[in-house]
This record gives sequence, C-alpha cells and structure tokens, in this order.
Amino acid sequence: MISVEEALRILRAHLPAPGVETVDFRSSLGRVLAEDLLANSDIPPFDRCAMDGYAVRADDTRPAPVELPVAGESRAGGGMPGSLAPGRAVSIMTGAPVPPGADAVVVVEQCRTAADKSRVAILEPVSCGDNIAPRGCEARAGEPVLRKGHRVGPAEIAVMATFGYARVDVYRKPTVAILATGDELVEVDRQPRPDQIRNSNAYCLAAQLELLGFPSDYLGIARDTREDLHRKVAAGLERDILIITGGVSMGEYDLVRDVFRDFDLEILFNKVSIRPGKPTVFARKGDRLVFGLPGNPISALITFECFVRPVLGRLCGMMSPELPRMKGELLRDVRQAPGRTAFLPAWVSWREDGWVVDPLPWKSSADIIGFTGANAAYIFPKHLDRMGRGEKVEIMFLPDFFVRQR
Ligand code: AMP
Ligand code: MG
Repeated sequence: MISVEEALRILRAHLPAPGVETVDFRSSLGRVLAEDLLANSDIPPFDRCAMDGYAVRADDTRPAPVELPVAGESRAGGGMPGSLAPGRAVSIMTGAPVPPGADAVVVVEQCRTAADKSRVAILEPVSCGDNIAPRGCEARAGEPVLRKGHRVGPAEIAVMATFGYARVDVYRKPTVAILATGDELVEVDRQPRPDQIRNSNAYCLAAQLELLGFPSDYLGIARDTREDLHRKVAAGLERDILIITGGVSMGEYDLVRDVFRDFDLEILFNKVSIRPGKPTVFARKGDRLVFGLPGNPISALITFECFVRPVLGRLCGMMSPELPRMKGELLRDVRQAPGRTAFLPAWVSWREDGWVVDPLPWKSSADIIGFTGANAAYIFPKHLDRMGRGEKVEIMFLPDFFVRQR
C-alpha cells in the first residue's frame, strides 16, 4: 500500500499536458493564463492628474502664499491641453492630462479661487511631481503586464480591459463525468426499498466539482454487473476525466477494477494508506484519467479533495491547486488506530494568535451527517495512536472554509 505522498507523486507524473483555448476575457475569471499579455500602450497614456486642483510649475509656488492668474482648464476626457506658461495656473481635475510646462498639481484644498475664477491663491508650496502620475509609470508599452501561469481574478480582468484584450488564451478545463455504482442505490426522487439507499455521492462530487469551477456530466448508477459497468464506463471514457464511486473495495461485487482491465486501463495505484479512502484507484488510458473512489460518502469526499482536486487543478494550469494547509492547536485529546494517515472532521477557528481545532465526533466513513459540521479536516499522522489537547496538528481547510458558519 502506498502513502498519500507517493500517490500524489504518481498522479503528478502521469498528467497529460494542459490544453489551451481562447475565451472572452470576462469568462477567464478563475482560469489560468496560457499566454503573456503585453502592454500595448503606456499606462497612463499621458501625464495624468491624480487630484482636483491647479496645475502649476512647482517653482512658481514659492514662497507661498502666492497668487497666480488662471489660464484655462484641463478636465478628464476634455482633450489634450495646451502648454502652461510660467507664472500661471490651469484648473485641473483628476484623470485629466497635465498641460506641458506644468510639473506639479496643487490640491484644491490648498487653494483659494477668486469669485470670478480668474485668479487663484496657492496657500502651500508644492514640489516637482506632486499629484502627477507620469505617462508610463504603471506600464510601458511592450512590457508584460500579466504572465502565462497567472490565475485570473477581478484585478486581472481589469488589466485585460485596460489594454483591450477582449479575448485571451487560458488553459482548457478537462471535461468530467461522474458514475455511481451499486445495486443498493436508487435515485434521489425514488423511495428506497428496505435494503436500498439513495445515491448521494454523485451529487456530493458534482457539488465539489462545481465549487472548483468544473461542470460535470452525471452518467447515472451502474449496477454491479460487468455488462452495465462496461457500458457506462465506455460512456465515461469519452470525457477527459471519469470519476467512479463505489465498487473498488474487495467485495465479490466490486467489479470496477475488472472492468478497467476490459478497457486496457493502466492501473497506477489501487490502494492508498489513507483513512478514510484506502481502496482509491487511479488509472489511465492515453490522456484519459479515471478515478475509482470508495463508495462510503466521506471516503469519496476526502479522496476527491486529496487526489482529484490536485489533478484537475494542474490540468487547467494551476501551480498549487491543493487545499491550503495550516497548523492548529487541538482542543481535545484524540485517538486513532495507527497505520494510515487519517483526515478527520473538525471545526477550525481563529483564536487570538492561531488556529484552534475542535475535533468532531467521528462515527465512520459513512457518517456524512456528522461531516456537515466540519469546515476542515485535521490530519492524524499514521505512526501515532493518540494526540493530546494543546498539541499542534496539521489541518486542511475544506473548499468553502471561509464562508461556512457554525
Ligand atoms: P462500495 O465502495 O461499493 O463497497 O460501497 C461502500 C459503502 O458506500 C456501501 O455501504 C455503499 O452502500 C455505500 N455507497 C456506495 N455508493 C454510494 C453512493 N453513490 N451514495 C451513497 N452511498 C454509497
Ligand atoms: Mg458497491
């Protein structure tokens, strides 16, 4: 059985190269740029006034106070102004071009304008460059403003708009299909027989994918027969990534691995030293990747976050798509059988100067109801069987950590 770290190494070593597509810049939010974007002009494109006031020559404001005749106006979008003659001032607004000849702007609060606006008294002296953003101070034409590999957020969208990049190259999102398996499963709108349960994993996984920004196709429930599994896996292999839940443990009707062999899928691992989630399978056929996640709901949820998320993230160009990890202080003694790295539910909060970890009761890897109280998983090292209150433990924030409420 391989460790979690080894599983992650294997995953990384078998990823196809990310694809590239061109999208409208507004839909690039959350994507990763696949090209450098260069400034196609200086920004600002002219010496830009940063405050409302008067454009002057700094030398003309000394010794203050001094009174200057007002020789005109420059306003935002009002055309390029003519030059400022020595000993004069031009009324100017934020965002307007500074007239040639002026080298500073006096803010309006430091001025007294005559009633007829023909003269202005400057109350305090200014220095050369005050309140002016010189042409090109934010970007020079030709220099890169956004680099390939950069993740797009709202500020990046603004940069694209600034330089008129209406379409941009980003890494393509792989297409994903979800397949549930199990003779005991019925759909959400059905009344289960006494020996049946409703399929919840497919919807949980679809929601996890959605939080990550991935649409998915749901292929339904495959029955525990080789024929039905075969048919539905075939449909799943038309997508870049197929996520299957259930049917990967050692039971007589756990046929997923057998079906992988029918398709000549190369199984890269089929057991990981993780709790919950030991029987996780990762397989590949060419550029198609297939995950066989265990059927227990928390096993599926945790193994998705640990193994599927980093793969999907890297395939669309992210450098470190793993969920963020921190250390926090345990509020309680906890015990575990040693042997596997355990990801256990916790409520993590900030207290004074650090994260504190409230471990939640843990019934089993099927206890999805208990898990709804968690905003994080704390990571119980595999060589330990107990950890004490006050000890530091590693925590993995769940994707919606910052919006959850207790
Ligand atoms: P398996 O991995 O197929 O052996 O399933 C392990 C446990 O998870 C069994 O109790 C299944 O009934 C349950 N299970 C499997 N698939 C699902 C699913 N899609 N939704 C909810 N429970 C499931
Ligand atoms: Mg099953």
